[in-house]
Amino acid sequence: MFNTFMLLLTTALGGTFAAPTSDLDTSAASARKFLQELVELNTTNPPGGEQRAVELVAKHLKDADIEYEITEFAPGRQNITARLKGQGPEKPVLLIAHADVVGADGQSWSVDPHKISQRDGYLYGRGVADDLGMAAVNLEVFLQLKHSGLSLRRDVIFALTGDEESGGGGVQHVLRNKPESLAAAIAFNELGGPMLGDDGNVRLVSLQSAEKTYKDFELVTHGKTGHASVPLADNAIYRLARALDRIGKFKFPARLLPVTRAYFAARAAVEPPVLAKAMRALAASKGALPAPALKIIEADPILSASLHTTCVATVLSGGTRVNALPAEAKASLNCRILPDESGEDVQRTLTRLVGDSDVEIQPIGVFGKSEPSPVTGVDIDQARVVIAQMWPGVPIIPFMSLGATDSRYLRQAGTASYGMNPLPMTEGDMRRAHGVDERIPVASLRTGVEFLYKLMYALAVKN
Ligand SMILES: [Zn+2]
Repeated sequence: MFNTFMLLLTTALGGTFAAPTSDLDTSAASARKFLQELVELNTTNPPGGEQRAVELVAKHLKDADIEYEITEFAPGRQNITARLKGQGPEKPVLLIAHADVVGADGQSWSVDPHKISQRDGYLYGRGVADDLGMAAVNLEVFLQLKHSGLSLRRDVIFALTGDEESGGGGVQHVLRNKPESLAAAIAFNELGGPMLGDDGNVRLVSLQSAEKTYKDFELVTHGKTGHASVPLADNAIYRLARALDRIGKFKFPARLLPVTRAYFAARAAVEPPVLAKAMRALAASKGALPAPALKIIEADPILSASLHTTCVATVLSGGTRVNALPAEAKASLNCRILPDESGEDVQRTLTRLVGDSDVEIQPIGVFGKSEPSPVTGVDIDQARVVIAQMWPGVPIIPFMSLGATDSRYLRQAGTASYGMNPLPMTEGDMRRAHGVDERIPVASLRTGVEFLYKLMYALAVKN
C-alpha cells in the first residue's frame, strides 16, 4: 500500500512542497485523537500508571500489524518500544517520548487538566506540551510510515517510556535490560523544536544537544550543645553560615562549550542589536571571553546560567530549641554543572572554598550525566536540511538546557540525542509545561505531523 500522502511527500522533497491537505488533515485528526486518549488516562507521576498509556499504544500498534515490546519497571509502570525494519548499514533512528506527566493538583486550572479542551485556537490539558503531544505525533508518523509501504534504509524505532518526571526510571530500565531496543545513531526527544513568534509564524528552530548535570550536596556542621546562656566558640549555625557565605560570594568561571558557542552565534539572528552584538562577540572570541560582551550577557540570569556551573543554597535547618545551643546545622545546595565537569570537580571546588574540614560536604543521590551530542554530523545535518525546507531562512539554534531530560541516558549509551519536539509553540506556551493551563496551538499537531514525516523520510526512507 502506498498512500497519497507519502507519494506527494516523495515528489515534494526535491522541489516545492504542496501540502496534500486532506491527508494531512486526516493525520492531524488522528494525532489529536491519540493525544486526547493519552491526556484522559491521567498518568500523573507519582504514581505514574504508565501501563495504561502503554496498553493504549499497544492496541494502535497491533491494529497496524506492528510488533512491539513491553517492559515493566515497577508495578503498573511500563515502557513500550516498536520497530519498523529497514535494510542498510545505518544504525536506527529513534523517536522517543515519555508517558508520565507532572501533577496538576493544587493548581488553579481554568479547565479540567485531564480532559482536552479547545479554546481560542489552543488545546488545553496536562501533558499536551510535555510530552504527550510529541508522543501522539510520533505514533501517528510511525503508523503512517508503516502504512506507506515505503522501503526503509534503516530501522525506525518508536519508544514511549515512563517516569521521566521523577528521574527516568523507565528509560533506564530499558537501557539496562534491553539496550538493543533503543540502540540508535540518532534520537529525537522532548524540548526544543520550532518556536512561534507573536505573529504565529515559526521564528526559530531550537535543537537541544546538551544539558547541564543536576547534582545536590548537603552541608552539615556540628557543635557542642548546652544552655544558650553560655555561648561557646564552636557553634554549628555560625560555622555553616560562614561556609554558605563563602559559597554565595563565589562564581564558577564563565566558559563557552562548543554548544553554547554555536548557540550564541545562531541566536544573535533573532535578538535586538546590542544583545546580538554581544552574542556574536562571545561566539567569535578566542582565549579570554571579551569583558564588555560578557557583562551584557551576564545581565540576563538565564543566559548567565548557560556560561557557568552554578550552586545555590535551597534548604536550611539547624538547632532544636530557642534556648539551647545547636548540635547540628544543615543546608542543601543544588548544583547545575556544565556537562564537561564532574560532580567530583565541583565538590573539590566547594571544599576549597569553604576551607574548613569541620564542614561536611556530602554528595546526595546519583542523577546521571552525559557528554553533549555533536551539533553537526551526517544525520543532524540532514535534519537541518529538512528544517530549512520546511521553514526557509529560519535560524536553527543548538542549545544546552539548564534542566535535565532522559536524553542524558541515551547519550550515555552512545546515541546522539536531540531535543526537538516537532510541535510549534510560542515561548510562553513552552513555559506553561508543569504549570497552570498547559496548552499547544491546535494547528501545531498538523504542522508537527508534516514536519516529522519529512524528517523521517529524509533520514530513513530509501531513495
Ligand atoms: Zn517532559
